[in-house]
Amino acid sequence: MSARKLFGTNGIRGLVNVELTPQMAIKVGASIGTFFGANKNILLGHDARTSGPMFAKAVISGLTATGCNVHFVGMASTPAIQFAVKNHRMDGGVIISASHNPPEYNGIKVIWSDGIETSHEQETEIEDVYFEEKTVFAPWNKLGEQSELVGINEEYAQAIKKHVDPAKIASKHFHVVIDAANSVGGIAAPRLLRELGCKVTSINANIDGTFPGRLPEPRPENLGDLAATVRAIGADIGVAFDGDADRSIFVGANGAIYWGDKTFAIVIKQFLLQNPGAKIVTPVSSSTLIKDTVDAYNGELILTKVGSVTVSHKMKEINAQLGGEENGGIFYGPHQAVRDGAMTTALLLNIMAQTGQSLAQLVAEQPQYYIEKGKIPCQDDKKESLQQKIYEQVKDQNISTIDGVKIWFPDSSAILIRPSGTEPIFRLYAEAKTQEKAQKLIEEYSSKIKQILQAL
Ligand code: MG
Repeated sequence: MSARKLFGTNGIRGLVNVELTPQMAIKVGASIGTFFGANKNILLGHDARTSGPMFAKAVISGLTATGCNVHFVGMASTPAIQFAVKNHRMDGGVIISASHNPPEYNGIKVIWSDGIETSHEQETEIEDVYFEEKTVFAPWNKLGEQSELVGINEEYAQAIKKHVDPAKIASKHFHVVIDAANSVGGIAAPRLLRELGCKVTSINANIDGTFPGRLPEPRPENLGDLAATVRAIGADIGVAFDGDADRSIFVGANGAIYWGDKTFAIVIKQFLLQNPGAKIVTPVSSSTLIKDTVDAYNGELILTKVGSVTVSHKMKEINAQLGGEENGGIFYGPHQAVRDGAMTTALLLNIMAQTGQSLAQLVAEQPQYYIEKGKIPCQDDKKESLQQKIYEQVKDQNISTIDGVKIWFPDSSAILIRPSGTEPIFRLYAEAKTQEKAQKLIEEYSSKIKQILQAL
């Protein structure tokens, strides 16, 4: 965190008691309270991290000091808290979570009344209060009140059920393995799936903020136990959530781990069959698989900058009902326009039930792309001019400059060249129908960029 900035791409994040302290959390709470204003109703909850209760109490102190009433929901997943903010007509919400980061981290996310994270402009307003000492404290007799709000997980699960066909799913008797990373993904989802008639086996299910089972980022290298369990017990599907259960990554009955672009494409196809011409929102970094699927089923693809908050806000702005990221975040608008791991799981089971196809069969019909990545060192002060020079070289091709420079080639291959927001590097993501072609693209553009850099 730099001196004048609190918020990153997904709220405030930091190492507990090093980068993010309880003192800061009180001040952040008071800044959020000042931003919303006295007498506003703010819902607050946290994930399973060891520091969750500590930061929750600190933020609650700050909020009530500015006259905000806090409705505390305790431990819950990020999507369950977001749904509760909207469902209970709160003025806003605060989530204490560091999502997929390791257990020594925590963070603070601010939610608007519609359940969606606040915009970057709103975050700047909160930062302004924080850094300019503009907190407006309430007098002693007008402090905010704190109360507990129970039952949000049950309400959340019931809401998800309305968007699928429970009888159809139940008729298939799916056996599902859930890997909740010892965090909040184990609260609402197992019960929801049992109520949908599934047999549920859980691993890493006990709540433990040290995350002993696996790291909370559902990357393939962390999901070996889930894949082995699905295979060993003959389950139909496995699902792994990240630390706050807004992202979900799936495993087929064969033990294959499918990255999020594949499950997103499955959901897109079914959605477009039922909603012809619908708008699908995804970051420009998404796989060509997403573009192919939207084109094949006559949807309209809307590209955004990278970041889940940007996807949510774009969906709201253009009234789109489906969005997704390749990392396993699917935004199902009819439920809520935010990433939601339990909703995504229910949607996928619904599609498997409706089509009678396994996850492996649904994936098998998709075009196959190969991905290669690269990175090139580039000082932060040269990033802008480098990006401009790259643009000038490729501007006559089929490109997008929404976030970095993305080039699509006539043979369906593509490359995204994008400055890292946190490191002094440019990242390259190439995609092609063969591994060799993807590798060739990385080599070709790496040498082009190095040449430009030398001349800068
Ligand atoms: Mg998350």
